[in-house]
Parts: sequence; C-alpha cells; structure tokens
Amino acid sequence: MKVVRNVALIAGASLLTLAAVVAVRTMTWKPEAGAEKPAALAAATPVDAARAAAHLGEAIRFQTVSNQDVAANRWEEWDRLHAWMQATYPAAHAAMTREVVDGRTLIYAWPGSDPKLPPIVLMAHQDVVPVTPGTEKDWVRPPFSGEIAEGYVWGRGAFDDKGSLVALMEAADALAGRGFKPRRTVYFVFGHNEETLGTGAATAAKWFADRKIRPEFVLDEGGVAVTSNALTGEPVAVMSTAEKGYATLRVTASAEGGHSSAPPKETAVVTLARAVDRIAGDPFPLKFEGPGAQTVRGMADGGGWPMRMLVANDWLFGPLLARKMGETPELAAMLHTTVAPTMLEGAPKENVLPQRASALINYRLHPRDKAEDVMVRARRAVRGLPVELSWEGTPVEASPVSSSSDATWSTLAALATEATGAPTVPGIVIGATDSRWFGPVAERVYRFAPFLVPFEELSRFHGTNERVSVENLDRAAEFYTRVIATTAG
Ligand SMILES: [Zn+2]
Repeated sequence: MKVVRNVALIAGASLLTLAAVVAVRTMTWKPEAGAEKPAALAAATPVDAARAAAHLGEAIRFQTVSNQDVAANRWEEWDRLHAWMQATYPAAHAAMTREVVDGRTLIYAWPGSDPKLPPIVLMAHQDVVPVTPGTEKDWVRPPFSGEIAEGYVWGRGAFDDKGSLVALMEAADALAGRGFKPRRTVYFVFGHNEETLGTGAATAAKWFADRKIRPEFVLDEGGVAVTSNALTGEPVAVMSTAEKGYATLRVTASAEGGHSSAPPKETAVVTLARAVDRIAGDPFPLKFEGPGAQTVRGMADGGGWPMRMLVANDWLFGPLLARKMGETPELAAMLHTTVAPTMLEGAPKENVLPQRASALINYRLHPRDKAEDVMVRARRAVRGLPVELSWEGTPVEASPVSSSSDATWSTLAALATEATGAPTVPGIVIGATDSRWFGPVAERVYRFAPFLVPFEELSRFHGTNERVSVENLDRAAEFYTRVIATTAG
C-alpha cells in the first residue's frame, strides 16, 4: 500500500511540475519571428488609386492566358501587354533599362548609385490561368472585361498576378516621377509562363547567376493577409519564407496481357492498384515544425491562452497540434510532403488485359524531404511487388527556408504589417511560384503581396469572379514604393 501511495505522490508531484513548466512557458512565450530590429521605414509615395485601377482594367484585357497546351497560347497578347506597359509608364521606363529573356520574360533594372550594394528583386508574372470551360456564365462580369465596379477591378488575373505587376509599375512610375534615385539597384522580373513551365523565371534566375549578381532579397507572390485567420479569428499576413518542391513518380506494372475472358489471378492492373494503395497508404509523417508551424505560432500570438499554451509547449503538444492540423488538407500540406495519385493508364480497350499499366503520383515536397527520400520511401512501400518506379520529368526540390529573424525579414514584415494592419508571420507556399528558381541565386526569397482579403475571397483566384479591390491595389502600390524607398533608397 505504501508503495502505491508513494508512486501516487511522485506522479502527483511530477504532474504539478509539468503544469508549472507549461504555465511558465505559456506566460513567457513569444513567437521567434522578427528577432532583429527593422530598418527605419521610408514614407509611402502617393499613388493615384483610380488611375491604377483603370490601368489594371486595361492590363486584364490582354488575354495572356497560359494554356495547358502551350501551342494554344496567343503570344501576340503578351506583345501587346509589353507595348502597353511602355506606353503607360513613361517615367518608370525612362528610369529603368528593360531586357527580354526566354522570348517574353521581362527584366527591368533601375541602376543604383552604389553598385557595391547587392540589388533587390521584385517579381510578378504576366500570364493568367484559363477560365474553366463551362463556367463563363457564372462570371458576374466577363472575365477579360477589366471592369471597375463596386470598388473592385474585375477579371482573370486581377489578383493573380496582374494586380502585383500593375502595382509594381505604378510604384516605379510614382517614385521615378518624383525624382527618386535608388542607392541599390532595383530589378523587376516579370515571368511570362508562371502558370505552366516557369521557364521564363528560370531563365531570369540564370541571367542573375551568369552575371554573379546575388540579390539582397527577392519578393514574389505567394502569401497575402486575411481579415480573419482560421485559428483565432484575428487578421494575419503570411509572408512565406519557403515553398514546397514538386515531383511526379511513375509506377509501372508489366504482365503477359491477353484476353480479359481468361484472366490470370494477378494482372498488371491488379499489381499496379496494390502498389498505388501501398504508396498512398504510407503518408509522410506530420511534424509540427518549420515555416508551417511558424504560421500557427504567429497566429496563436494574437489568440487566447489555450492556443498560446499549446504552441508555447510544442515540445509536449506538438504531436497533438500536428494531428489537429492534419484533419484539414490545406493545413496538413504545410507540415509534410503530400502524396497524390493523379493518373492511371491501362489497356486501350475494356476487354484487353494490358501488358503494361502505369500510374502517376504527384508529390509536393516539404523542405525537410528530398526527392531521393521520396524514392526510397516509395521503393520500401512496394517491396516485393513486380513494379518499376521512375521520375516523370525532373523533380524540383523544396526551396531553402529564408530567414524569419534577420533585419531584412523584420523590415519587410514591418512594412507588410503597416500596409495591412495585420501581424506578419512566416509561412510556406504549398503550390509553386516563379521565385522557386531564385533559391540558388538569393539567400532570402519572400513570397507576399499586401492584399487584405476575407479568407473566402481566396477561392476566386484561379476560380470564378476573380477581382481585387481598388483599396488593395492602392495598398499594394504604396507598399512597393515603401519597400523600394526603404530597402534600396
Ligand atoms: Zn500567380
């Protein structure tokens, strides 16, 4: 009996100690992002919001649609967009040189007075995704009308990514028009095929590498501010410090083939189905770490004590947090490499046993996993099955994770917060952006545009009724004037 009592006492004391540790950590906890002080922030240069909105409307009317079949692209629309940019932004074009690479990607350079300083690179892309056939009638305004109504500029690309492109050009035109001269060289890189191959941005990155230019930072699309985050209901701005990689695995099963009226027990399709099931049934573990966890920590900072307690003590509650996030696919994607079987191929006819059946499995790589790890894991999953594994195309590794504590981060985060009124937290892009090509060229690559929107608004981009508010466009243009004046002025 005495032993039992002692055990109970010890257990009780341990629990009290644990509770005390959890309580102290909760009370003293601060998210780690933004440890260093920001630079002195330059004032915004005013931009004419109505003029910017009219310009975005015009830019939307050029149908720079990136089709899945690139041969269907109407390249003259890109050429018209280029001519329009030159005519619309005379001050910016007088201040900057312009070079075209890979056919239609634009590199603008605004030479700084001190060539020893590393330059900055600001990015946006010219192309847009197609309007899904059959959804045209659901658009309240025609998708390429660029109409301005109800305080919004409407149309495909308003948000992704002509809003940023126009905001950058408005910023340059406003600054140059007022005689601003940068100390650091400022580059604009406008990719022409972000939504398909991204070869434009890849060529631009190589352009920098060939000239041994190492930018101080690169800022591209890939994060925005929402008025109410899913965790605490407070506004939050996510400036992504990383993006996931991309790889597609081909799984192939071979067999004798023959007539489906006399099938053997194991056919190519059955073997393939087993292999796909095994690979998809062996997900990468969810871990509460990295930029995805930092987003949650940053959001929790503005929340009540239960949320703070969990994130402040992730040494204890990390697995619980990871499991909770794992229930929502978009949040789970921030914490691990995702596995998605997408295409299956078998016989050309229903009564034929295929000699060869294959599946494609699309992976989005978390920064802690390499493509090689994916291959090793898949091989282990299908051990004993007669299938072959090979890469479909060349895998793209996840980006490096940029600093979320140095002075550059703190400066950009402070500017983002002043623009949106929301705390700025690090994050990870679960899709892909043009800036992924700049990983080898720049130590810091950030992905953010200062659009402040309700969460539901995000479904409009790549979706129906895409639009951007005139207020957000103005916010973005003035934000870019401050980014340039603060970091390159
Ligand atoms: Zn985009």
